Amino acid sequence: MNGPLPVEMLRQHLIDPEICIRCNTCEETCPIDAITHDGTNYVVKADVCNACMACVPPCPTGAIDNWRNVRKAETYTIDEQYAWDELPAQNPSVEAPVVAPEAGDGASVAQALPNGAAAPVGGSDMVRGSTVPPWSAARPYVQLYTHKAPATATVVGNYRLTGDATESDIHHIVLDFGAMSFPVLEGQSIGILPPGATPEGRAHHARQYSIASPRDGERPGYNNVSLTVKRVTRDHSGNATAGVCSNYLCDLKKGEVVTVIGPFGNTFLMPNHPNSHLLMICTGTGSAPMRAMTEYRRRRRLKGATGKLMLFFGARTQQELPYFGPLMNLPKDFIDTNLAFSRTPGQPRHYVQDAVRERAVDVAQLLKDGNTHVYVCGLKGMEDGVLQALQEIAERHGMRWEALWERLKREGRLHLETY
Ligand code: NAP
Repeated sequence: MNGPLPVEMLRQHLIDPEICIRCNTCEETCPIDAITHDGTNYVVKADVCNACMACVPPCPTGAIDNWRNVRKAETYTIDEQYAWDELPAQNPSVEAPVVAPEAGDGASVAQALPNGAAAPVGGSDMVRGSTVPPWSAARPYVQLYTHKAPATATVVGNYRLTGDATESDIHHIVLDFGAMSFPVLEGQSIGILPPGATPEGRAHHARQYSIASPRDGERPGYNNVSLTVKRVTRDHSGNATAGVCSNYLCDLKKGEVVTVIGPFGNTFLMPNHPNSHLLMICTGTGSAPMRAMTEYRRRRRLKGATGKLMLFFGARTQQELPYFGPLMNLPKDFIDTNLAFSRTPGQPRHYVQDAVRERAVDVAQLLKDGNTHVYVCGLKGMEDGVLQALQEIAERHGMRWEALWERLKREGRLHLETY
């Protein structure tokens, strides 16, 4: 006599809409197009995802690493996931699917894959930067404040950084947490919850901004952080639009209170050993973490420390380059600054990767040094160009790029944050 048919189970991969900051990193990383999004949520297609885990390490917030045991017949559809404001609780009556353990498998990562296949532990070739911090980085605190229990901060400064005559309206915004503990490290980010709702009546999701100040505060010893925010006036296709959060932030007045979640990020962190070198490559507002790291190193300039700072910074024009004045005032023996302007009238277009190539000999010297940590932050489009330039320089100076790239990634020495 036949017994009852076994109910097929699935460990369904889901993205937490409360934590996700919609940066698109997971969708770009997924090698099999299992992740998609609408105007509200990023979601995972259960019938496509093979739990290869490629998307998990690069996610800046950890929103990606959520799983629910479901009966296959009750798999959450894409449309259901689009409608969520928060993840559904695990149904306690559904047990985890059983899969045979892999040889030597003690980790949670390869467990219970939807199709029973083994997943590669620790990411995939799609991960282009480090998923671990530098060995000497300080321990970050993450997600101390959430949508359900956010922090509040008071605006204590809001200054335009770019020339008045330029279209690019970039602001330096200082937020003070008062008596609320909000510990941060350079390279981390925070999420801002803009007030109001979408046309569909849903609360706006959080927008993420890198912290532009060092761990001991925008003003040393104060419980405050600064952000570098560009007012968004055009969408990716160039059509006029008003960015919800950037306009809200750029228009804030002193004394107004903002709702904050985070901090986020546990890999894009700076090394703390005094002989470590920072090779920083950024465009526009991607300069925020570089400013934080540079200022931290400036404040704690250690006697006898041999660590070098080399910066490549791109903007359309000098007037559109945030922090141009203060940057130029930094001593030459402290930081080697190289600017690249793409739209200076009468000049050929100059991108950061061009500037990197022009300094090939010095960049090669840094790449050969095991104390060098590379940070790339800014426009997505620059990532390929910068990696290409680093590859050319490495190979021209006798280094095998593939091996060097792997080593940089493995040792937490190549950090990419581009959107
Ligand atoms: P932007 O003003 O649009 O661009 C800065 C410079 O990069 C311009 O000179 C631009 O040249 C150039 N550029 C364009 N395509 C490039 C390419 N393929 N390779 C190299 N350079 C290229 O920059 P932005 O609007 O400030 O944007 C910065 C990016 O950083 C945004 O994507 C933002 O999301 C990201 N980011 C921001 C923060 C933050 O805390 N605010 C943190 C991390 C990352 P042309 O325009 O003349 O071509």
